[in-house]
Amino acid sequence: MRGAVLLVGSELLDGSVSDRNVAIVAAELARQGVVVARAEIVPDDVGAIADAVRRLAEVSDLLVVTGGLGPTADDVTREGVAQALGVGVHTNVDIRASIEKRLAARGLPAEGATRQASFPKGTVPIRNPVGSAPGFGGEIGSCRFWVLPGVPPEVVEMIGPLVDGLPTPQSGWGWHRLVATAGLSELRAAAILDAGGFVVPARVSLGFLPGAGGVKLRLFAPRGAPATELDETEQSIRSLLGSAALPESGLPESLVAALAAERRTVATAESCTGGAIGVRITDVPGASSVYLGGIVSYSDRAKIERLGLAPELLARHGTVSEPVVRAMVEGARAAFEAWLAVAVTGIAGPSGGSPEKPVGTVWIAVSDPAGTETRRFVFPGSREMVRERTVNKALEMAYRRVRPA
Ligand code: ATP
Ligand code: MG
Repeated sequence: MRGAVLLVGSELLDGSVSDRNVAIVAAELARQGVVVARAEIVPDDVGAIADAVRRLAEVSDLLVVTGGLGPTADDVTREGVAQALGVGVHTNVDIRASIEKRLAARGLPAEGATRQASFPKGTVPIRNPVGSAPGFGGEIGSCRFWVLPGVPPEVVEMIGPLVDGLPTPQSGWGWHRLVATAGLSELRAAAILDAGGFVVPARVSLGFLPGAGGVKLRLFAPRGAPATELDETEQSIRSLLGSAALPESGLPESLVAALAAERRTVATAESCTGGAIGVRITDVPGASSVYLGGIVSYSDRAKIERLGLAPELLARHGTVSEPVVRAMVEGARAAFEAWLAVAVTGIAGPSGGSPEKPVGTVWIAVSDPAGTETRRFVFPGSREMVRERTVNKALEMAYRRVRPA
């Protein structure tokens, strides 16, 4: 089955919001063998929406539209789809009543309920368990379509059950595997596989997904192919990559799993990352069994009062220095009575750099009962990139304390 995604929203075209829905929709559709062959973005405009729906429906078996179902007059996806279908829009009174009831229960005015309960004639409403705007679905020619709200978490909740209801396909990609790595670049991974004489089996497809924490290798085999073919390919990749290959789907997952398996705990002390390392750890379900907490010691005062640093240490060496990160990590480990602690202090930029300590200078420390390890990095790029690389390097160093390379 060929899939298409249509994103509606002027904010997606003027640089104010980045799309997240194509990835959500494509990953879900892939579960039932639907390959997304194209995606298009149109502004909140009835004519543009109608035109895109018609064109995409002509070349697709399944079209997913997201966005523009809000209660205000600038959200016009229902009118655009109605125009593509050549029908009018009508209000479903039962759904209007239930939206009004829900709004009233939260003490909100019921103004937008009529719009949100309006659908192109001949379409079927799709329940929204997490937001106010229901979606709707129908057919245009031989193409089935689903129209969903734009809010990504709502798309996540609504698309799963819809995909579950699709017929199980006989062809297309059937299986996939993911091999995450710690700190390995795309080229480095490819070079290791080459040097080891790795050849991608005929029916398997191998993709490299570069990312800040390390490249991920994705393997696909067609539906009908025996799963053992992928198992074997995954095994040979893992043995060639050795300890650079992670057992779980990424660094935070691997760190949490490894700590949980050893019944060990971790705590953080973060300066330039402002808590982002803690966020990445707590993104993992089950993090509560290993993560004790973190201290965002952004100011010198917080480093002194919360982590017990001596003021002279900061004065003598500066905030971004080996003695400071060492004291931070040991302070955090003691404060939380954790088995492992991670600390970072650095200059994310764009200002604050000096010749000895240029922007991008970051000290990262990890500490466990075997001792404290500190490393200095000078990460290139913007503030965002420096912070992202710091988070990933810190997670990698932490993981290596539990599972040495
Ligand atoms: P409602 O306003 O009732 O939630 P809706 O979700 O259809 O309905 P939109 O205005 O289209 O209304 O989108 C709501 C929010 O979701 C906006 O903040 C919008 O920027 C965001 N959003 C819409 N489409 C996307 C997308 N493709 N990726 C990321 N965010 C999106
Ligand atoms: Mg919108």
